Amino acid sequence: MTCIFCRIVAKEIPNYTVYEDSHALAFLDIQPLAQGHTVIIPKVHAGTLLDLPDSEAAAWSLAVKRALERVDQIIHPDGFNVGLNHGEAAGQAVAHLHMHIIPRFRADGGGSMHSIIEAPSHLPVEEVAKLFA
Ligand code: AMP
Ligand code: ZN
Repeated sequence: MTCIFCRIVAKEIPNYTVYEDSHALAFLDIQPLAQGHTVIIPKVHAGTLLDLPDSEAAAWSLAVKRALERVDQIIHPDGFNVGLNHGEAAGQAVAHLHMHIIPRFRADGGGSMHSIIEAPSHLPVEEVAKLFA
């Protein structure tokens, strides 16, 4: 088994568990961006959310909430950034779906989601909307 997060699920690699149920595991990120930085994975291997079977998606989403509640109770941050690096182009380094929960504190110097990228489409939003119509 080569996937590092599958190896964590299989207990071949240790982790600092934050929350666990039969479908999902949340553990402290080994290179935390903030105190309590946690990642939540589905126990089945899925590279991205697009690969995760619908039958697993609801349970994983609920586990994200449960892990968020747990980090909130223990760390008491002022807020969170919660998100996915979804695909290599978006910075995903570990190819097993994982949601980051990053606790945020007033005046911690960090930015918002809006600081990740600024490369808007050359198409106005009204034109992009037509693609979805
Ligand atoms: P990314 O794929 O860029 O969304 O990030 C992968 C995250 O997994 C990074 O923040 C790593 O620090 C974290 N990570 C990698 N290996 C481990 C591990 N063995 N235990 C905990 N976190 C890990
Ligand atoms: Zn995996």
